[in-house]
Amino acid sequence: MAETVLRKSTSFYDVYERKPGAIKYQTHYCPGCGHGVLHKLIAEALDDLGIRDRTILISPVGCSVFAYYYFRCGNIQVAHGRAPAVATGIKRALPHSIVISYQGDGDLAAIGGNNILHAANRGERITVFFVNNAIYGMTGGQMAPTTLLGQKTTTTPFGRRAELEGPPLRVCELLASLEAPVYIERVALTTPKNIAKARKAVRKALSVQMQDLGFSLVEVLSACPSGWKMTPVDSIRWIDEVMTRYFPLGVFRDKTAEAQPMPLPRIRYDLESLAEKLELPTDERPGPALAPPKPEPRFADPRIKIAGFGGQGILLLGLALAEAGMEAGYQVSWLPSYGPEMRGGTANCHVILSSRRIGSPLVSRPSVLIAMNRPSLDRFEPEVEGGGLVMYDSSLIDRPVMRKDVEALAVPATAMADELGNTRAANMVMLGAYVAHTGVVGREHVVQILPKVIKRKQLIELNERAIAKGWEYALTLQSAVAT
Ligand code: SF4
Repeated sequence: MAETVLRKSTSFYDVYERKPGAIKYQTHYCPGCGHGVLHKLIAEALDDLGIRDRTILISPVGCSVFAYYYFRCGNIQVAHGRAPAVATGIKRALPHSIVISYQGDGDLAAIGGNNILHAANRGERITVFFVNNAIYGMTGGQMAPTTLLGQKTTTTPFGRRAELEGPPLRVCELLASLEAPVYIERVALTTPKNIAKARKAVRKALSVQMQDLGFSLVEVLSACPSGWKMTPVDSIRWIDEVMTRYFPLGVFRDKTAEAQPMPLPRIRYDLESLAEKLELPTDERPGPALAPPKPEPRFADPRIKIAGFGGQGILLLGLALAEAGMEAGYQVSWLPSYGPEMRGGTANCHVILSSRRIGSPLVSRPSVLIAMNRPSLDRFEPEVEGGGLVMYDSSLIDRPVMRKDVEALAVPATAMADELGNTRAANMVMLGAYVAHTGVVGREHVVQILPKVIKRKQLIELNERAIAKGWEYALTLQSAVAT
């Protein structure tokens, strides 16, 4: 019995490798948060219903933005409030998939209010798990559409007032006024009895989708001890004694007995018919014009993380590498990640060059790290896989690489760019050094794509020289090591 209750669902990863930092076996949620409980109910349902392999879970913006750290199924993280729109697209493109839109109250009921309303009204064959904790948790406890009257938040410090902020939005009741939804229920993660009801509701909502019956939504009243400034125990009590008075638990729509399966028509587009519809030329893309690269096995198919300050040309470095990879005949992906600041903030990007199709553009265990400043080296060095390569700008980083199980390559990229008369060419010095050291693409591949990625044409020649300088530096280092 104990084994059954305590086992970790196979729909969770054993180790949360995608989670940054050293601790890979805890979630990022606060103690007493309801998200973890709901994750468990969903993961167990995916196991027991046998649908994990065809499930795609859409994470919102909010505290559950990182749900993809945990669920061992298809995952997509989307823009704020847009999960129902993305879910619609996925379900229509892949009718056999089970699509879950996981959303909080700020995401679903505020910025995404129109999205959920229209997805429900269209009767999309998706399942929505709506976490209502009556507050914006992730951003510091602002008022949400579901904040209760009188409830104090950082934006309603004297309590929410109906005459100013309007009354709280009851999402289940609102959606139940539409014709299309098949199943809508509100549950609470409080007592064991209520959690058992929530478990049942999660499974029922998923089974509605499995039978192609239509739209299903489960609203989950869930504790946010951090946002509410309460202990976890008081939070549970508050849900039961206060929240449920305004948000009564129960089933608001259940047409499962009479609803008929409505399978989506399967629309197949092959490339040719799509090109015809879009009036695109159908000619085969020419193969690589230049000789394909032959890197050493340890450098083949790299998964690269490039990081530094905003303004150092980090994203451009990654883009140039991805474009050069494409020229060299690789499958490529480039995933930029911007800090909030235009200059001086952090920026990083993920680049994959692969001889096979790429499943996800996310690089959580890079085989190569290119660190252009000290914070980036400090942050990402632990993530590099054993046997990987760490390159760093030794003009700006005042410490060596600490790991003994990776290859470290110091390149004084900024100083070398200064010698060329433009500090900002340090990114291209590093690019030249990387391709020379690994042979993953040829220098000619990189030079060829510069006009595509450098907007100011008068800077192309400078960038070429920077690439050449980095290239020569790396080759000189290699020959010094060899002799
Ligand atoms: S802020 Fe609230 S909702 Fe967010 S993780 Fe913490 S307890 Fe959970």
